[in-house]
Amino acid sequence: MKAVVINGPNDLRLQDSPAPVIAPDEVLIRPRASTICHSDYELIGGRYIIPFSYPITPGHEWSGEVVEVGKNVTRFKPGDRVVGESVIGCNSCVICQSGNFTNCPNADHFGFTINGADAEYTKARPEWLHKLPDGVSFKQGALVEPFSVSYGAICAMGGVDAGETMVVFGGGPIGLFAVAAGSAMGARVILVEPMASRQEVGRRLGASEVIDPREEQVAERVQALTDGFGADLIIEASGAEAALTATLDVARNNGRIACVGIRIGQSISVEMGKIQIKGLNLKGIVGSPYVWERTLTFLNRSGLDITPVVTHDFPLSRAEEAFALASQRDKCIKVMLMND
Ligand SMILES: [Zn+2]
Ligand SMILES: [Zn+2]
Repeated sequence: MKAVVINGPNDLRLQDSPAPVIAPDEVLIRPRASTICHSDYELIGGRYIIPFSYPITPGHEWSGEVVEVGKNVTRFKPGDRVVGESVIGCNSCVICQSGNFTNCPNADHFGFTINGADAEYTKARPEWLHKLPDGVSFKQGALVEPFSVSYGAICAMGGVDAGETMVVFGGGPIGLFAVAAGSAMGARVILVEPMASRQEVGRRLGASEVIDPREEQVAERVQALTDGFGADLIIEASGAEAALTATLDVARNNGRIACVGIRIGQSISVEMGKIQIKGLNLKGIVGSPYVWERTLTFLNRSGLDITPVVTHDFPLSRAEEAFALASQRDKCIKVMLMND
């Protein structure tokens, strides 16, 4: 089969690869759509948040069709449309036992430490998979993984509704999905993003105000929009130092801040006292544990269309070109690979 393989640092190729062979407790899948993520470039660049080894097939944001199931698999059958989780806990350590498998010290990540979905075929275990509702397309399905991170972050902070104002820092896919989820839940959403193309998609997905942090003082503008009190919920999805610092000024007293943007190995200085004085609830979030079924139901029932973040799609046969484009963040938002 054809598969995207990262053979070493900065060595990504579309190449012939042996098709996966499934064990009795595994499922063979034909991915139908997958999207390229910023974190794929960490892997290509030789870094990742947990240990990994080359060669590896990326692809952790995907949807597909079950082709074959092992004899011990009862929940799925050939033809089922599925999506799959990326973070896989060991299921036996004390962290997994206490219900936080995304923080498991022995976790595997599908598409990072085990082969992912940027290939004609992939394999997974049934416990990582979820059925894609009939009303959700393969294209939308490939976005369920990143959308679940944004939607799950809002849920983890107690949700949001029409009585609240939410500020999202960063109009990358995770930030844009937070805009979409928050506005579908009814909140007023303010997006902070400098790039015009991303501001535009943010407006389409429901942001009622957009702030360009290069042009305006973000905290002042948010205060002005909230009668001087600040925002109830802040989703920090940029990973930028200035944004992380600004969250403390943008939040109202007793506000909630979810840190979703990832910064590896960098320190920033913030005035910690503000967290105390303002009584802020600040939480770091990785992945989207226990929220997948709810995410799928939310997308299905709300009819929310999250595909405007996909700016380009390529057939799998042009994967190398797709990865070259997706690395240029000013030229695209989400780049999709189709395996028809
Ligand atoms: Zn991703
Ligand atoms: Zn574990």
